[in-house]
Amino acid sequence: MQPVHRSPLIRVTLAAAAVAALASCASVPTESASTVLQRANMAMGGSALRSISYSGTGTGATFGQAFQAGMAWPKITYSSFSRVADYENGAFREDAARSRAEPNGGGAVPLMGSGEQRTSGMLRGTWAWNTVGPAPIPAPVALDPRIHDLWTTPHGVIKAALANNPAIAMRSQDGRRLSAVSFAVPGRFRATALINTDGLVERIESVQPHPVSGDTESVIDFSDYRDVGGVKFPMRIRQAMGGYPMLDLAVTEVKPNSATSFDIPALVASATERVVTERAADGVWFLAGGSHNSVAIAMADHMMVIETPLYDGRSAAVLAEAKKLGNGKPVRYVVNSHHHFDHSGGLRTAIAEGATLVTSEMARPYFERTFANPNRINPDAMEKSGRKASVTGVAGKRTFTDGSRVVEVHYIDASVHAQGFMMVYLPREKILIQADAYTPGAPNTPPPAVPNALHVNLVQNVERLGLQVERILPLHGRMVPMSELLAMVGRKS
Ligand SMILES: [Zn+2]
Repeated sequence: MQPVHRSPLIRVTLAAAAVAALASCASVPTESASTVLQRANMAMGGSALRSISYSGTGTGATFGQAFQAGMAWPKITYSSFSRVADYENGAFREDAARSRAEPNGGGAVPLMGSGEQRTSGMLRGTWAWNTVGPAPIPAPVALDPRIHDLWTTPHGVIKAALANNPAIAMRSQDGRRLSAVSFAVPGRFRATALINTDGLVERIESVQPHPVSGDTESVIDFSDYRDVGGVKFPMRIRQAMGGYPMLDLAVTEVKPNSATSFDIPALVASATERVVTERAADGVWFLAGGSHNSVAIAMADHMMVIETPLYDGRSAAVLAEAKKLGNGKPVRYVVNSHHHFDHSGGLRTAIAEGATLVTSEMARPYFERTFANPNRINPDAMEKSGRKASVTGVAGKRTFTDGSRVVEVHYIDASVHAQGFMMVYLPREKILIQADAYTPGAPNTPPPAVPNALHVNLVQNVERLGLQVERILPLHGRMVPMSELLAMVGRKS
């Protein structure tokens, strides 16, 4: 056996590696995570801070409401935007006055040029709700995002990190050294706060769970710190989420320790996912009871479900009801009206149960890619099932039949709401199922002076396809005769 000698070349290479290792020692932390966090807390005036309110103006986006699947979130303008982060009570609220900054896409914002909308969202402990008018509306799907938003404020992230076994690494960015303090709030989110040598939080990189996009990345940048009564706060906050801009806020007012506490409304605390079933035709059921409806259709040996909205909790209740109505027949197909997150938030639940997703050919690649993402922070039914998504696309039109019942899926063309926007038509029953193109108002609502562009577009599509619609089962709102939609666009039936 030949003795092994190290060649000079290898020795040189090893020496270079040693130098490189020494150089990278510059990025070995010299302080513990808690030392860095305590220093940041001092610098930012965070130790005595129980709550903080801030407000300003800027631009935002409707997350998950892209015009076309995979595109950026539609941009909105905030004429006012405020947040209250109450660290002491685990409470948070966000109030905004918003309007569209671009015509296309979803998000329940009035159409371009149709004015401004006020929104309020609350969190306390493990309850989330929205207030529209006097009544609170439970919003379980907003729970994780609001917990994330509360603890990814500049001071909140320090408090959350201190409480959750932080780890530290060093990062150099633009020639500057930043302490990168990482932690996880189990089941909720994980985050890394980048803290500069002045002890200010410059950036938060985080990952939160989401019913559609799985583990979802967010990056929040804080800049232009000012002193407000001994508390340092950034006057500019920018956030991107899921890879696209979400917020660009110019802060104009900051109030430390000014939160007024609010209670969880009884209606929210007692909320459960109710499915209220109404028979629409033989073997066709309208599944209402929440903000989003679904429809169950009995086929010879299986069930089809039109729309599994929001999140596992809603979708599981809808799927259980569909199986009950079908006397145990499996749900083989789940039809997704369009890719907006509120309408697709329960698709993963249906996939976990073995259903094939029927979506537009335009959204199919997006769902195939997105549903392959991990969802490990708060594993949902699909993550736990280990199932892969089976997705089939509709290009314009597709018919499902068991030889007796016929279910047609059609595109709603040229809508400003979404691309790959689909409706379902049952020709024998003369029933149309559609989302977001038309949400019926209260009975006897007079038609608007100028018809809503989405209503006009829906009527045009029904006529283009020659559908003989008698009744509409909307995926928001109540079941109505077609004449109500026609009246909204100024037609006599
Ligand atoms: Zn939509």
